[in-house]
Amino acid sequence: MILGLLREPGDETRVALLPELVKELVVAKVEVLTENSAGEKAFASDADYEAAGAKLASREAVFERAEVLLQIQPPNDSDLSLIKKTQIWISVFNPLWETVLVDTFLKKGLTTFSLDSIPRSTRAQAMDVLSSMATVAGYKAVLEAALRLPTFFPMFMTAAGTIRPANVLILGAGVAGLQAIASARRLGAQVQVFDVRSAVKEEVMSLGGKFVEVEGAVEDKAAGGYAVEQTEEFKRKQQEAIDQHAAKANVVICTAQIPGRKAPVLIHKATVDNMKPGSLIIDLAASTGGNCELTKNNESVVHKGVTIIGQSNYPAQMPVDASRMFGKNVFNFLKLIIGEEGTLNLNFDDDIVKGTCITHQGEVLNERVKSIIE
Ligand code: NAD
Repeated sequence: MILGLLREPGDETRVALLPELVKELVVAKVEVLTENSAGEKAFASDADYEAAGAKLASREAVFERAEVLLQIQPPNDSDLSLIKKTQIWISVFNPLWETVLVDTFLKKGLTTFSLDSIPRSTRAQAMDVLSSMATVAGYKAVLEAALRLPTFFPMFMTAAGTIRPANVLILGAGVAGLQAIASARRLGAQVQVFDVRSAVKEEVMSLGGKFVEVEGAVEDKAAGGYAVEQTEEFKRKQQEAIDQHAAKANVVICTAQIPGRKAPVLIHKATVDNMKPGSLIIDLAASTGGNCELTKNNESVVHKGVTIIGQSNYPAQMPVDASRMFGKNVFNFLKLIIGEEGTLNLNFDDDIVKGTCITHQGEVLNERVKSIIE
């Protein structure tokens, strides 16, 4: 199999595979074609890739020769004009949300895989790019908040008086939220947490956070550990509780998401109106609309002294470890489609391969995407 490792477009600093894993693919008899400067922004040089056994090539040559094209970001129009039906495109493109892109893939008859659709089973844990990147995002969100806040995070008892610890409110205790709790606690903040899944209460408490319970949340075991849409009655009660906590918070970190839907709006403009000037909202759900009504994706806005940061790609601010984690997940996934002697072996009887494949020969294979598209 010839694997084409592409240089990421625009502001993306990560690379889908670092040289250390290219080496292992070469041992498995995979030919790796790396686009010139693919790893530059993640501090991996062309010489490092060559030393690992990759061959360097222009972008056009990679598109011309590779059987599998690997890039974290989805293809742009120019890429779409180059990809052939016989090739496989692997990236992360949120197919439950980016349905127009899925439709384009379908019409072009392309074979595409989206790594954010890897089933969340025990067997697939080592391939779970969502968890890896959410870990980076939760950590970075807290660091950014600590740097920007006009007050300390920890409590200080000094000769100049006692400084109270910062109050951090975290909405959503999934992978990013749990990492944010751990990071904020390490910096000495007091942390309050909301989630609609009662199962996370113990995890929140074990990390030193206070879980704020709102009665009446709808939970669905069939949702595979994810949240589902809530009733109007629950939303009203949750809103009141969040409003009270937000008014006392120095930092709000928003991570609440429902797969395939717009992120729930949990912080309305009126809530922000009542927040303390100088406080911060960091919205990690920005790419699907945000948990705050005032969030703008990849922008900062200030409303009555409250700064709202819509940030959907913190991993690009930590390219080395983010690429290392992403690459390890990709490598574990690639092992499923590498056959004997390094040949390409697409086995759609494997639930991980089938579940991650979004389009193939004019059909949608992923069941959840299929239910949305058709
Ligand atoms: P996510 O990014 O979809 O959502 C983040 C959090 O927001 C979730 O905890 C969700 O319950 C919460 N949320 C949604 N709507 C909300 C609302 N209205 N108010 C408050 N909170 C709300 O989730 P994620 O972090 O990707 O993962 C969620 C869960 O999936 C994990 O905690 C875990 O149970 C499971 N998971 C399983 C595996 C595996 O088995 N391989 C891997 C990763 C995660």
